[in-house]
Amino acid sequence: MSEAAESNKKISLSARILVGMGLGAFIGLIINQLAPDVQWVQTYITGGLFHVVGKIFIASLQMLVVPLVLVSLICGVSSLEDSSKLGRMGLKTVGLYLLTTAIAVALALFAAYIVGPGVGANFPATEFAAKEAPPLINTIINLVPKNPISAMAEGKMLQIIVFAVLFGFALTQAGEKGRTVTEFFQNLNEVIMKMVTIIMAIAPYGVFALIAKLMATLGIDSILPLAKYFFLVIAVLLIHGALTYPLLLKFMAKLDPIKFLKKMRAVQLFAFSTASSGATIPVSMETVTKRLGVKNSIASFTVPLGATINMDGTAIMQGVATVFIAQVYQIDLSFIQYLTIILTAVLASIGTAAVPGVGLITLTMVLTQVGLPVQGIALIIGVDRILDMIRTSVNVTGDATVSCIIAKGEGDFNMDVFEDPEAGLEFEEVDLPDGETAKT
Ligand code: ASP
Repeated sequence: MSEAAESNKKISLSARILVGMGLGAFIGLIINQLAPDVQWVQTYITGGLFHVVGKIFIASLQMLVVPLVLVSLICGVSSLEDSSKLGRMGLKTVGLYLLTTAIAVALALFAAYIVGPGVGANFPATEFAAKEAPPLINTIINLVPKNPISAMAEGKMLQIIVFAVLFGFALTQAGEKGRTVTEFFQNLNEVIMKMVTIIMAIAPYGVFALIAKLMATLGIDSILPLAKYFFLVIAVLLIHGALTYPLLLKFMAKLDPIKFLKKMRAVQLFAFSTASSGATIPVSMETVTKRLGVKNSIASFTVPLGATINMDGTAIMQGVATVFIAQVYQIDLSFIQYLTIILTAVLASIGTAAVPGVGLITLTMVLTQVGLPVQGIALIIGVDRILDMIRTSVNVTGDATVSCIIAKGEGDFNMDVFEDPEAGLEFEEVDLPDGETAKT
């Protein structure tokens, strides 16, 4: 093999995704500036090639989510030696998820109160047809699937989790026969993980298409009047990602946050380009178990649960947006209203589906709760796409942080894997059809 091919093998997945992203941004911007009205470019390139490749990429990630979560969670629960651990781990995980989200909104409210992104802003009156946010009580009632097959068909994550936990627990109680089935699921898990690896190899092309289409169609002008709101949300997201999580990792799990963040790069890039924590689950699982050292018995539970109910980035956007809208409409918020925002934003983040843009819909819940006009959402909708990408990266980083903390606390954490910068990379080698091996 030539030297060039040899060095090509060594390029990490995140570097290749970054290249895809950079090229996508470059080409997209060129189209945005030079060919906004050229019909064939819009039809065949932006709306054709980029659109199709991007959609196929996201669909291929989503394709893996249900089988992956089901099978790896069954494996995870059936491998727990002590079943009382399950309840304790479950409570601790949910508690930590709620705590990190509450910190996130509090941070957002504080920053928005100090900076005043909407003070003195003058926007023309806008119309906005608010979609109704789903009532939270439904989330609780619907935890138990009436029909597990239809839960899987519809990708209802919480229902799948409940079914898989029960199934995995039953396997441990079913003696020899249970062990045979467990073995089958463990083998199946290996196969599905391999599928994840194969899909990850095509990620740079998918990311290229997604970013190129976004940049080609993005109206930069919409950002300017909202610059204060836009950059404040980004600043709080960065603070939460660069301060809250590292501090929690350092003090609650005694882990080096820098090593953690370095290994999280690929996951963050996936989340950024797909704007979907749900679609990122396969990559998060792979990274949390093979690169960070969390045992599958913990990761298979904490990662999909976190992707579904833990949305710190979304809560940050909602906190800043609520204060921004109140300021634009010149409505003073009382201390009690601030507390209400924290509470409802935490609940709204649980009810937010892990797909693009839903955070804006559940924002109606928060606004209604404190008596603010939901039409205010129309003010910020123009810049939400980019914010969605950044907040989704924060969302998935929060899931992995909690996963590490829980695993460390339960003694289900492999420190050697965490310390080794190369760990997990050898698992990511895919045999390409032409016989070459690429390190993803
Ligand atoms: N896109 C976010 C996610 O999937 C949810 C949102 O804030 O809209 O995590």
